[in-house]
Amino acid sequence: MRTSRVEQGRIGQISVEPHPEGAVAVYLVESADGRDGMLIQWLLDELSDYVDRTQLSRGRLLSYAVQTVNGRADVLDEIERVLKEHYPFVVVQRTFDSVIYKVVKDLCAETGSRLMPIPHCDICGRPEPFPDTVITLNDDRGNKLASRCYCRTCTASTMARTNKDYVISLLSVDRRRFGLLRSSELIRSRNKARKLCYRVNAAR
Ligand SMILES: [Zn+2]
Repeated sequence: MRTSRVEQGRIGQISVEPHPEGAVAVYLVESADGRDGMLIQWLLDELSDYVDRTQLSRGRLLSYAVQTVNGRADVLDEIERVLKEHYPFVVVQRTFDSVIYKVVKDLCAETGSRLMPIPHCDICGRPEPFPDTVITLNDDRGNKLASRCYCRTCTASTMARTNKDYVISLLSVDRRRFGLLRSSELIRSRNKARKLCYRVNAAR
């Protein structure tokens, strides 16, 4: 989702959500009508304790990127098996990359299916169904100003010794350049959800 330009001076709180790495697969199925499309949704709902999912398209071409959440990659085999039993056309790729995403885009155009909006890395611009790190910027009162997400390649190339350095490094190479935060004081604060949170004391 696009957010309007954020005035850096308004940023009062920052929260950081790291997402653990998991095995990823992309599933494309052709659904002849709306009803048979329910099966893949039902299957992924049933497996929600084991996998996260991001829908890539809907309509005749139904496609999802799926990531395991507890290290059990065999659940991806199981999804593939069930889909192949039920759908005549199934494509599976055991990774998400720009090639498979282009296949989804092209098939959407061919079949009149709808491409769903997915997160893109706010540093390199790559489509990323499962961002490695999501940073939320709030004002002093906790109202959300923006949400920024970063892919694993970009977070891995960040040289930071502390969590605070990590947050500031990512935000300063973000496409919106939150570099001003470098001169602000970030103070670690408590958060019920055990996310990493900071209060921002802007530089005077
Ligand atoms: Zn990136």
